[in-house]
Amino acid sequence: MAKLTAIVAGGGIGGLATAAALAQRGWAVTVYERQDELRAVGAGIYIWENGLRVLEALGAFTQATENAFHGTHFEQRDNHGAIIDSAPVAGGNRLLTVPRSQLLAALKHICEQADVKIVTSTEVIGANARGELYFASGGSHTADLAVGVDGVWSKVRETLGLERSHEQTTEGAIRTMVSAAAGDFGPADVGKYIECWNGARRFLVTPVNSEQTYLALTCPDTDAPGCEMPVNKAAWRDSFPQWEHLIERIGEFPINWGVYSVTRCSAWSAGRTAIVGDAAHAQTPNLGQGGGMAMQNGLAMAVALEAVKDRRDIPDALEQWEESERDIVEHCQRWASLYGEVTYLPDEVRTRTIRGAMSDPWVAGQVFRAANHAPIGTVPPG
Ligand SMILES: Cc1cc2nc3c(=O)[nH]c(=O)nc-3n(C[C@H](O)[C@H](O)[C@H](O)COP(=O)(O)OP(=O)(O)OC[C@H]3O[C@@H](n4cnc5c(N)ncnc54)[C@H](O)[C@@H]3O)c2cc1C
Repeated sequence: MAKLTAIVAGGGIGGLATAAALAQRGWAVTVYERQDELRAVGAGIYIWENGLRVLEALGAFTQATENAFHGTHFEQRDNHGAIIDSAPVAGGNRLLTVPRSQLLAALKHICEQADVKIVTSTEVIGANARGELYFASGGSHTADLAVGVDGVWSKVRETLGLERSHEQTTEGAIRTMVSAAAGDFGPADVGKYIECWNGARRFLVTPVNSEQTYLALTCPDTDAPGCEMPVNKAAWRDSFPQWEHLIERIGEFPINWGVYSVTRCSAWSAGRTAIVGDAAHAQTPNLGQGGGMAMQNGLAMAVALEAVKDRRDIPDALEQWEESERDIVEHCQRWASLYGEVTYLPDEVRTRTIRGAMSDPWVAGQVFRAANHAPIGTVPPG
């Protein structure tokens, strides 16, 4: 029997995970990427237990996590440098941080192993419900299945008419990487992920291996010095003098500034065309789960399509996939947005709010629900 065919718009984290998961299940898959090569946007990335399990299921874990940083605590600190909350990274609930480029390379590798064809410099400008993608260069391709994993500004989502809302937050982040040096962390700070607050500014320090540290400088887009490019080091030094040594090193690595998108859709598919990842369910980065959800949902879709033998069965399988996955994805979106609300509280109120919330087992359970979730298609440890 001829293989079922899939075409995927977007060669980011979600697109490659989806493509690999389909190809590993016997589909003939082609990925179309707009950039002239597969290139990660951003610097480092947090991968929680759920995402790590997906990487294991896909066979990308070893390469994606080689030399990764295994933090022992995720710590939040106030404007005086005092600890607000120090959440241990518990044994069965892993959290790793890696350079995004490493994660993308690992996903590309498993795509190549599964014979996924990756076509770069190809912009998708639309899709229809019959598994067809349209290209900026003219022309189109049709497959049994088309998937839009083309990010927050997804043309596939737009042309299928699936978008219910695309909200852009006022908060955004500068993301960059600095080289790591001995003595960067005091004795009490070694081995931790540390997020410091001061007013509506946040400074997140994330080692990603022994050589590099990922920095996220978050502020509202109304904070002109805060979002200035190139980075206004004096402004950030004033807010976070304890990290002056890292702030001084900013500049070696490309820098992105951007506000966040939250996308909500009426459905994740129309006919034989689906959307996955930020195209379907972008969220604010407060829980570090957008990439995890993109990979998890791509794998879940491939699993839901396992029983399909005929393209006519694809629309029903896609509906069942959405039904099984929507709840966890929307939960994660909701809680990521809720978490961001503390930004606009006065410092002391924010400290009390975070402390009270995170010491409440119910709240902690909601915040970490996605991380604790066993994604479809993965094998729980032990
Ligand atoms: C500040 C910040 C920090 C974050 N931190 C984390 C974190 O720690 N952990 C985590 O899990 N998530 C994190 N996220 C979220 C995560 O980055 C996204 O959820 C994830 O990248 C989504 O993957 P995706 O493949 O759906 O989209 P993308 O990564 O955006 O990939 C889309 C791909 O499609 C391509 N493309 C776009 N348009 C077209 C087109 N028209 N035709 C062809 N190709 C196209 C793009 O070039 C790109 O390669 C963070 C996000 C932000 C903003």
